[in-house]
Parts: sequence; structure tokens; C-alpha cells
Amino acid sequence: MAREAASVDQKFRRRAMVREQLRAKGIEDEAVLDAMGRVKRHEFVQEALQAQAYSDNALPIGYGQTISQPFVVAKMSSLLRVEPGMRVLEIGTGSGYQAAVLAEMGAEVFSVERIKPLYHDALKRLNAMRYFGVKLRLAAGVLGWPEEAPFDRILVTAGGEELPRSLLDQLGEEGLMLLPLKVPGGGQRLFRLQRRGDRIGKQDVGEAHFVPLVEEQA
Ligand code: SAH
Repeated sequence: MAREAASVDQKFRRRAMVREQLRAKGIEDEAVLDAMGRVKRHEFVQEALQAQAYSDNALPIGYGQTISQPFVVAKMSSLLRVEPGMRVLEIGTGSGYQAAVLAEMGAEVFSVERIKPLYHDALKRLNAMRYFGVKLRLAAGVLGWPEEAPFDRILVTAGGEELPRSLLDQLGEEGLMLLPLKVPGGGQRLFRLQRRGDRIGKQDVGEAHFVPLVEEQA
């Protein structure tokens, strides 16, 4: 009974999150809003943090890493223009939340994580929540998942120094890639890249505050 009441409460908070932190702050993509209305973000954080799961904050998930702020997940998901059936590569599984949102949008998600316990937790969690369309891989460096390439979309949820060539090679024709990069003078910006044949278009789509991308191999 207490459990049921808690779950109704979380649903209420989740709806409020979509209304007040996403829609009211300019997220218009209905597919993203629907998906984030369905994914139980509180199940992606430890129990002690569940009461804060629908506030608009990044939260610690251990090992110095964070689950991104809901607004950031919404912004990334809508900038990525994901359509059902698309193959999407994510670098930085973390809690698995962003991957679950993309799966709810109908994408086939391939997500790579370098920290073993985070990878295991995400695997367990996504299976328990029946997100069978998400495939996870434990790998260091920014090698992506060449065996599954090309991808329609690539998103990097950790901020690097420069665009990893290995990832660009895995982006399909007309593909979009979203990644935060360090900029001269400090700070990060989010960039959206589009492949058109051999040409790559690069667009600055706003400021970013992601945990660092670890580029070296284990
Ligand atoms: N998308 C996540 C949040 C990501 S936090 C979520 O929804 O919860 C960034 C993650 O990227 C961290 O878990 C970090 O360990 C991972 N990471 C950093 N560098 C990486 C790399 N080179 N390859 C794979 N994962 C990496």
C-alpha cells in the first residue's frame, strides 16, 4: 500500500516535471515530452535521492558521475531529431536514463560506458524495466561501437577536448551527432554535427556542463 502510494506520488511529480520544467521552459517536441512522462527517473537514482528525482537537477550516481538534469536530457533528445526505428549510439550510459528516454521514443539504442559498476547497474536496471531495445557495452576510450555502425544519430553525454575521429567514422549518411566540447577560454559548448557526404556541418547549439569524457584507453 505504501509502495503504491509512493508510485502514484512519483507519477504526479513526473507530470509536474514535464509541465513545469520542460514544456514551460521551451521544450516543444511532443515525442520527447511523452517519453519523459513515461520513464521513471526515480528508478535511475539511489533510494536516498528518489524524492529529488523530478526536480530539475543533475544528481550523483556514484564514481564521480551524474545523471543529467531533465531539461538537458529533453534538450539533447529534441536537438537530436530522433525518429522511431533509428539506430542511436550514446557515449556515456551512466544511469541509463537518457538511453531509456531514447528507447521510449522508438530508437534502437547502443550505449557505451567505461565504468564497470555503472555499466552493470544500468544493465540490471534497464532489463528489470524491460527496455530490451537498449544494448549496452563496457568499453574505454572513445571507440564507440564500430561493429554496429553506421548510426543515424550519435550523442555524447560527457565533454571532451576535441571531436573523436572514431565516432565521426560511425556516423551514417545525413546522420546527426550531438556532443559537448571544451572551448577556448574555458567552459563547454554543445555542438551538433551533420554529415553530408564527405562534408561535416558544425553548429553551436548552446552552453553545456557535462562531466569529462575520458579519452584514454584503460
Ligand atoms: N547519459 C547518462 C549521464 C552520463 S554521465 C545518464 O543518462 O545517466 C557521463 C558518463 O560518461 C559517465 O558515466 C562516464 O563514466 C561516461 N564516460 C566518460 N568517458 C567515457 C568514454 N570514453 N566512454 C564511455 N563512457 C564514458
